[in-house]
Amino acid sequence: MSDEINMTISIPTDADGYVLLRCEHCGTYFKGTPSDLKDDGVLHIFCPSCGLISENYVTEDVLELAMKMAKNAVKDMIYNEFKKMERHSTRGIITFKTGKRPKHENEDPIRSGIEAMEICKFPCCKRTAKIKPLLKMTGAYCPFCGVKNYEIE
Ligand SMILES: [Zn+2]
Ligand SMILES: [Zn+2]
Repeated sequence: MSDEINMTISIPTDADGYVLLRCEHCGTYFKGTPSDLKDDGVLHIFCPSCGLISENYVTEDVLELAMKMAKNAVKDMIYNEFKKMERHSTRGIITFKTGKRPKHENEDPIRSGIEAMEICKFPCCKRTAKIKPLLKMTGAYCPFCGVKNYEIE
């Protein structure tokens, strides 16, 4: 077991590598990849729902969720390490029993809304973002140039 847990508490990316953002104006959640969001070619990030630019897309609840997700990840990590020790120490002098898997902190309320997002390709910028399926149907502003796209793949 490594005695060091390296973890950067930043906004965690999801399984597809997207980070969660929230529009200050309309409260819509959407996701983008860090490489697109930090790209020099992208001057502003536009909300896919209202098309406005927010000063700050990382809001309190996003941070709070990030912290909870990080905490849960750490809990799992520790649990898995203990589980490994348990397996390796069956013949040793020390008997070691791992308890139940730790209960995760509830990552709601926003998590359910986040998981329903779909990856969309914005043809104008050839970049992707994750948005709600409803937005995809009604048309969404490209987060990278602010142009409204109606046919999104
Ligand atoms: Zn908005
Ligand atoms: Zn665009």
